[in-house]
Amino acid sequence: MRRNILPIGAVITAALWPIADILAANGAAAVPPKEGFEWALGLIVAGLIAAAAVTFLVGTFRRGATIVAPLMVCFFGYAALEPLLGKLVGLMGLHNGRPFLYAVVFGAFAIWLLKSSTQALTQRWALMAPIAFLASSCVLAALAGGWTTPHAVAREMPKLSASGNVYHFLFDGLARPEVLKSKLDLTVIDSNAAFSRLGFVVPEHVVAAYPWTTESVSSILNLGAAPGPGEKFRVESSAVVQEFRRSGYHYGRYGEVFASLVCSGDEDVCVSTKSGLSEFDTTMLRRTPIYPAVRRRLASSTSSRTLPSNLRRIAETRLPQPTYFFSYMVPPHPPYFFSKACKAEGNNSDFRTWGKVGIERYGYAYNCTISAMLRAAKTIEQRDPTAIIIVSGDHGTMFKHAGPARGAWPIAAREERFPVFLAIRGPARCHLSFAHITYLPKLYPAVFACLQRPSAPRTTSSPNVSS
Ligand SMILES: [Zn+2]
Repeated sequence: MRRNILPIGAVITAALWPIADILAANGAAAVPPKEGFEWALGLIVAGLIAAAAVTFLVGTFRRGATIVAPLMVCFFGYAALEPLLGKLVGLMGLHNGRPFLYAVVFGAFAIWLLKSSTQALTQRWALMAPIAFLASSCVLAALAGGWTTPHAVAREMPKLSASGNVYHFLFDGLARPEVLKSKLDLTVIDSNAAFSRLGFVVPEHVVAAYPWTTESVSSILNLGAAPGPGEKFRVESSAVVQEFRRSGYHYGRYGEVFASLVCSGDEDVCVSTKSGLSEFDTTMLRRTPIYPAVRRRLASSTSSRTLPSNLRRIAETRLPQPTYFFSYMVPPHPPYFFSKACKAEGNNSDFRTWGKVGIERYGYAYNCTISAMLRAAKTIEQRDPTAIIIVSGDHGTMFKHAGPARGAWPIAAREERFPVFLAIRGPARCHLSFAHITYLPKLYPAVFACLQRPSAPRTTSSPNVSS
């Protein structure tokens, strides 16, 4: 048993590595705890069974693990190798030959491992490799650490008038068009003008409280507060959802991707992707060579790639009156899936592609997101003329700020990252207060003030929050 500690450890670390790598790249918010645990357990069991099966071919478990553990790392590292393979098949003049070439490389590596699996030195290196991968991902994750501290929110306010539905469509990384132009020389749809034409109020110079998704979404829905260290942010237990609930609203959700931003089961209405695969499932699949084969099937079901149809489904969903509906969607944030013509394309699982090549693809994603949202807003307006519709980002882009490290933001990066798009459609009496929002956590205080019954008891101070 003792001599099998290293082989078992190697299989377990190989199974944990893809999850640790996603964590290192995207932070804890990208891995829903339950799904992360299920994937980890499933991969560990599958890896150990595979190693035991190979043991029948090669004689000892140590040799079985020597073959299985590094192959698991290669399998889940496909996405990282794919660009290199793409160059190679390009040079060889093969089109769509990447999975084929990968099979050849993968097969040759497997045969080499099989042949040399009797050599103690190869065994040791092969078994140490997954551990090295896991360790490097853990170091990267630790370097990306450093968390913002929360501040308390105290509040007491009159109930909201339950008059119409309230929709909030939050798009990750939805920047302001004039900031994209001035900071990145990127011309996109003039979303300010387009939403104004639809009767939305588009306040100028809105900035987010935090440059990161979970903290920013929390600061919006918890009226200024970000989750503390180790504290979980959940939309359903946020101050905003609680306030709507208290005032007799139903609560609806569209959910995808990040841990706390999927439907939890507490919703009265949940619109989610049809495939049953979460964004985390597809993120894991996208790392593997299986993905090119199932891409077309997934394309019709995964959430980010089908943003227009998901928005249409939300807009056409008959909600119980009144409902507060919150939707979080990843685009225009990477990974980028849209062509210039808004067709879903690409095999990308990298949530960090804020590089030079990314600017153009971000522009496509931006235009597709805005066009689809404008269509959805028109549909909602026709069906539900009194609805309040909020369209916002959580932060801007980060093309000038390399790496996932928290803190240490140069001014140029701050000027790019913090300004955020916001547009609100609501009754004319609220337009002035909407127009004066300059700070994203002040969004809901303005919406609540708008929704309070004129006959409600008045507070002496501002009827929202202290922060
Ligand atoms: Zn974000």
